[in-house]
Amino acid sequence: MNQTSPQPSALSQILGACPHDCPDTCSLLTTVQNGVAIKVQGNPAHPHTAGSLCTKVSRYTERTYHPERILQPLKRVGPKGAGRFETVSWDAALGDIAARLSAIAARDPQAILPYSYAGTMGLVQGESMAARFFNRLGTSHLERTICAAAGGEGLMQTLGGKVGMRVEFFAESKLILIWGSNSISSNLHFWRYATQAKRDGAKLICIDPRQSETAEKCHEHIALLPGTDGALALGLMHELIQNDWLDHDYLDRHTLSWEALKERALQWPPERAAAICGIAPEQIRDLAKDYGASASSRAPAAIRMNYGLQRVHGGGNAVRLIACLPALIGAWRHRAGGVLLSSSGAFPVQRAALQRPDLLAGRTPRTINMSTIGNDLLRPASPEFGPAIAALVVYNSNPVAIAPESAKVAQGFARDDLFTVVLEHFQTDTADYADYILPATTQLEHWDTHSAYGHTDALLNRPAIAPLGEAKPNTQIFRELAARMGLTEPCFADNDEALCRQAYGDAVDFAALLAQGFATLPTPDAPFAQGNFPTPSGKCEFFSQRLAAQGLDGLPDHVPNHEVAHSASAYPLAMISPPARNFLNSSFVNVKSLQTTEGEPLLEIHPIDAAARHIADGDTVRVFNDRGHYHCRARVSTRARAGVVNGLGVWWRKLGLNGTNVNQLTSQNLTDLGHGPTFYDCLVEVTVVPAGV
Ligand code: SF4
Repeated sequence: MNQTSPQPSALSQILGACPHDCPDTCSLLTTVQNGVAIKVQGNPAHPHTAGSLCTKVSRYTERTYHPERILQPLKRVGPKGAGRFETVSWDAALGDIAARLSAIAARDPQAILPYSYAGTMGLVQGESMAARFFNRLGTSHLERTICAAAGGEGLMQTLGGKVGMRVEFFAESKLILIWGSNSISSNLHFWRYATQAKRDGAKLICIDPRQSETAEKCHEHIALLPGTDGALALGLMHELIQNDWLDHDYLDRHTLSWEALKERALQWPPERAAAICGIAPEQIRDLAKDYGASASSRAPAAIRMNYGLQRVHGGGNAVRLIACLPALIGAWRHRAGGVLLSSSGAFPVQRAALQRPDLLAGRTPRTINMSTIGNDLLRPASPEFGPAIAALVVYNSNPVAIAPESAKVAQGFARDDLFTVVLEHFQTDTADYADYILPATTQLEHWDTHSAYGHTDALLNRPAIAPLGEAKPNTQIFRELAARMGLTEPCFADNDEALCRQAYGDAVDFAALLAQGFATLPTPDAPFAQGNFPTPSGKCEFFSQRLAAQGLDGLPDHVPNHEVAHSASAYPLAMISPPARNFLNSSFVNVKSLQTTEGEPLLEIHPIDAAARHIADGDTVRVFNDRGHYHCRARVSTRARAGVVNGLGVWWRKLGLNGTNVNQLTSQNLTDLGHGPTFYDCLVEVTVVPAGV
């Protein structure tokens, strides 16, 4: 394998890392011929990737060489949102951007807002040089909570961090609860371990409002109403207690406030929980029987949570309750028992070295939540808010498509007095509103270092090909902007390979990353078999003193949705918006082969709900609530449970049927913990759009 550098005339294979927002963080192997990437495949030497990628990233060359790639800087020439641009030189673009940002920063740097998320999960092309640049200027901070914050906070308050089982040991489990996850679509390499366990006799139970591809392949499916996972966990605890399916020794030695949690759980008999979850009480009793059997038989029981379930008002508490469960039955005693939501806490990322918060020099800029960008872009200056947002610099994100209540987001981006710069590969919905679009490199064209949230291997991404056209890595764009704005600190001169080395410092063997593309972190097989949780008490904390000190409930509880199912007669259907199988958030929507497979924006609706509205399969439907309306194609299917519709996302608005997407309907309400969004906490109604409209 030629690993030194891309050789223009030779056939070479370059090791990389998948940059997308997926727990699997695959190791990539890119074959390059005559300077052109001809194939991207999974690295067979990386145990988690095992040589296979998902369909989306298998098409990465199609995405990289897409005819619509932006390969030169573009300057807006039409009205905002119209998407009309002309090419300009880098010199002209950066000169004007530096001048405009400098003028705003001179008045108040907090009027500048960076907006970024997981368009790349790379530590270097994500928040390294960009963070240095914005810290040095003293711009507003962005609260980057749009995906995982509620669940992350739930884990933090219960287990002490984003920690849990090692994913490979799910293969040895005897009972696996797949809770809030369509693993086949969004955690494929975990599914490999789950199917191994299934072959070896494990029982698989899927808990998800949607009858997903994963639910179909499990032994049982519990199709609860969105936002009721906490109630289900409490009902399950009730049954474990009533039947004494408990590991008393583990509870005594390794948990905090068991008696208080027990008292709360005993208020949740299956009938009460089932009424809230919209399921039969027997389903809760049966689930408890299966889960409790593990306590007596010592057969390992494991829970794979994913982030869907925490995108509701009570998402943080729901994760807390589910994270408590393994301690009740002593599941942590086994390496194949426990729970996994995220493993990212295991990575010794040197964030201060990468992002240099010291460049703030004592300043404490305000923080703006990325999920409320719709409201905040429309807010005038005030003593409470500070200056109106005058400039946005967007990278690794497509907020006009992915942020909730997108009509307001688009309205904010359309402000004529807002200066917007977008670093992008394509002319997305957000790029349509930019004053400048700057061409960014893809993962095949730059260096990066990665952590993961579904396994515990650090990865390195080497550039496989030279940047296409005039594209530049994000790091280089911020380096050049810094230079033009007179920011002379030596840290702005660090090159990308140096940044890759700084990401882990001495904590990860960089030579191993260079040689094999990944380095496995030394993590124990059964991290909490003897307690040792990274909480203040060292125990699994059923009661969180830290939350109590904030005036919150120290014990976890079921927190109802902001928009509870059946609570509004005008909007009788609950809507969730899981990703369409061939898309990853709003990435890949414009990759022709994937878009063709996906077809059109779909709304899955149960036959009973469809019949009540005279909706036939394939009809164009109008999905609406007080926040707006969205047209898409109806798929009458039992993938949706009665009373819940599934609006598959996230299509670009301009590729939708009426120039909107499912986020036209979602709200800017936040979660109980972590200030996360509540995409799956949304009531709607659906009607047929008459033909010809
Ligand atoms: S999106 Fe996930 S499964 Fe697909 S290649 Fe990337 S890390 Fe692997």
